[in-house]
Amino acid sequence: MIKKSKGLKAKFIDNTKFKISSFQEHLAEDASKIIPKMFKGIQKARRDYKNEIKDLPQEIKTAPEELWDEINQMAKSLGIDLIGFAPIDENLIFENDYIGAIELLYENGIVLGMEMDYDAINTAPNPPAGLESLRIYAELGEATNQLADFIRSKGYRAIACHPLGGPILYPAMAVKANMGEIGSQGLLITKKFGPRQRLSLISIKAGPLPENKHEEFEISKFCEKCRRCINFCPVNAILDEPVVNENGTVTRIDSKKCFEYFYETTGCSVCIEKCPFHKVGYQVLFYRQI
Ligand code: SF4
Ligand code: SF4
Repeated sequence: MIKKSKGLKAKFIDNTKFKISSFQEHLAEDASKIIPKMFKGIQKARRDYKNEIKDLPQEIKTAPEELWDEINQMAKSLGIDLIGFAPIDENLIFENDYIGAIELLYENGIVLGMEMDYDAINTAPNPPAGLESLRIYAELGEATNQLADFIRSKGYRAIACHPLGGPILYPAMAVKANMGEIGSQGLLITKKFGPRQRLSLISIKAGPLPENKHEEFEISKFCEKCRRCINFCPVNAILDEPVVNENGTVTRIDSKKCFEYFYETTGCSVCIEKCPFHKVGYQVLFYRQI
């Protein structure tokens, strides 16, 4: 069965509002390569999606275990750092994908993550941190498209969802794929990189999905005591207490306040830089609190 949105609202991302002029000297030079690459990736994903929906498959194709091993290996070779598998949850699909224009997804999802550079994020909210976000959008976008091409070359149908924008709430899908937990600032926190990764997804018309590695991971108690992201957010955009919505999703951020500052700084990232899980490994923090 094809999956469609049940009405979850997405925040409109206005690309024209990013202050690209804040990138000076070598950052401007880097940006002149990164930004076109990012848009090229978005355009390819849109073209491939249009081709996919011309002739939608009805039956889900049975995949042997080897397919998932091959996908894991190919993902690694493309520079993808994190991978997890979960059925697509329609409650997490947005009504509008303003960037990718994706309205339909297949039943199953492969969630992908790529680490952002530690030193660049340490400069947040200054331009090197913002440019790092754009770099990972470009790199992960390209890798996601290439992995989807690989899956199609194996005879399976796939829809690549670009990391910028996207048709589905990636962090919540990553939790379903056992990749980590959501922190107070609404970001996925993983054992490997804390909140320092960007996410994308490939929807695949194949199953059954492989089992994810199950690891105990619990950060909500830590967040209750920490609150650094809430205290350091320059525009007080992180809610003191998360709000659980009727459809089961959780609102943690005043996205209007966050987006204005995000545009102004071309990527802010203060709530990544201030999070202890960015600086110190999960195990160390976990044992420190008990
Ligand atoms: S990205 Fe910046 S403005 Fe947005 S919630 Fe995080 S710290 Fe606040
Ligand atoms: S900064 Fe603290 S409260 Fe915020 S997500 Fe990280 S651990 Fe949780």
